[in-house]
Amino acid sequence: MKMPRFTHSLHFRMSALFLVLLGLSVGGYYLWIDATVFKAYDSTEEQTWYEEKQEPELRELAARVTPVLDRGPALADILTEYGRRIAPYKAEVVLFDAQGYNMVSTAGDSLALAVKHVDPDLLRNMTADDWDFSSYPLDGDIDAFENRIIDVVPIHAAADSTRPADAFLVASFQPITMDVADIRSDWQIFGIRALIVILGYAIVTALIIMAWASRRIRNLTNGVAAFAEGDFDRRVSAGSADEIGILGRHFNTMAERIKHMMEEIGAKEEFQRQLIANVSHDLRTPLASLRGYIETLNMDPENLDPDERARYLDIIQNNLDHLDQLIERTLILSRLESGQTHLRRETFPVGELVDSILARCEGFAASRRVNLEFEVDGEAQDALVHADALQIGQALQNLVENGIKFNHPGGHVVVRIQPCPEGVEITVTDNGAGIPAEDLPRIFDRFYIGEKSRTRSSLIGDDRTRSSAVPLSSGLGLAIAHKIITGHGSELKVDSKVGTGSVFSFRLPLAAGDTTPAADEAAAD
Ligand code: ADP
Repeated sequence: MKMPRFTHSLHFRMSALFLVLLGLSVGGYYLWIDATVFKAYDSTEEQTWYEEKQEPELRELAARVTPVLDRGPALADILTEYGRRIAPYKAEVVLFDAQGYNMVSTAGDSLALAVKHVDPDLLRNMTADDWDFSSYPLDGDIDAFENRIIDVVPIHAAADSTRPADAFLVASFQPITMDVADIRSDWQIFGIRALIVILGYAIVTALIIMAWASRRIRNLTNGVAAFAEGDFDRRVSAGSADEIGILGRHFNTMAERIKHMMEEIGAKEEFQRQLIANVSHDLRTPLASLRGYIETLNMDPENLDPDERARYLDIIQNNLDHLDQLIERTLILSRLESGQTHLRRETFPVGELVDSILARCEGFAASRRVNLEFEVDGEAQDALVHADALQIGQALQNLVENGIKFNHPGGHVVVRIQPCPEGVEITVTDNGAGIPAEDLPRIFDRFYIGEKSRTRSSLIGDDRTRSSAVPLSSGLGLAIAHKIITGHGSELKVDSKVGTGSVFSFRLPLAAGDTTPAADEAAAD
């Protein structure tokens, strides 16, 4: 059942708890009073007499006194004897004459006897079957005889019960023997007791409510303190919907965020550390190579064979290119990872972007004697996509350069654009070395370089020493491309086979409003 919102508040809960405790204690107090102070009967015998025997016995007594109504001593004997029997039940029987005057009583010295006269009309009324005993006259006297009458039996001397009664046999409680001072002190005691009970109740209730609230606040405080001391996995239990529960949940959310931020900072620090370590390592190899070849060129420049000299300069050139690329990619990745590069989506024709990237890679492809091709399916050539053109261009260039780099002379790299349900799919296919299956899961990792791609000495015809070889891979190109594509909410897929070649692909969304027929067809598929 869904509870109304206000029932979740701490205020409501504390008030409800207070009222429940109040109900319990008042109920308990009432039951206790009922069972002790207002206990109706002292014994089961007394109860049986009042509830079962009193009425028949009174009628029987009435039958016994009827014949001796005019004989005082005999009447007194009968009533005194009966009075002894019922004395333990704190009851007495009084005989009134037809005018309501006291004739004789079972307890001669009782208050009932002191009440010399009772209104005969009242007594007559009380003999009626439908007399409502709860409507006894209340005249302010707490021990008024009328208020203590239990039963009235009319006595008819002549057997004609239709005539007015000649006397009334009245059963009544004995008077309470208590004076006004007693009553007053009793009320005082009762008042003090009630005060003590109320005070005690208030103290116990306040302690219970405070203990309940403070236990929850303590749990919260312990959680916050542990977190502050560095236990970043510490969370507080926050199941309740009240203010303390809400505070706990806010703390948990904040703790989660702080932990996430700390992890991010840690990851960034780790990245920077790794970057510096890798970059300094990767810089050392081409620098050592450069130094070696420059020293050789300097040593004896006149006697150097021109072919040898050209080859050395070629190696120096390649090392410088590599250094250039390494520094540039390090900068790009560092900016991407640190969040300095923001995605600036714009609408542009994807075909034109591919054209310009292929044009940019032409020189590199020619130097490797690799052919570049561009294929467009359907109307995708004119498709307008919504993406960051600069970043997508960078990712595409890295993929195309890889296709050239890890290829053999005469190989080819094909870039294809085709419609797909999401917009357009761009595929870069090469028929180069391919990537071993065991390398595939790691190629998008930063600085991951496949075992076979560590140098390109074979490509430049120098396999004598490792130091003379130019590093082929920086291990950053695919990490950059992957980061850019996932940053666009897309996925960079790879399919590769050693000896056959590799296929890299990703998808881009069409710009809003651009529904080329080709895209429509693909979406319909
Ligand atoms: P780089 O920055 O040098 O291009 P990448 O991060 O792009 O390095 O590539 C990581 C590794 O993945 C490379 O060292 C290479 O082993 C492998 N690789 C990437 N693209 C290709 C490809 N088209 N053909 C074969 N191997 C590739």
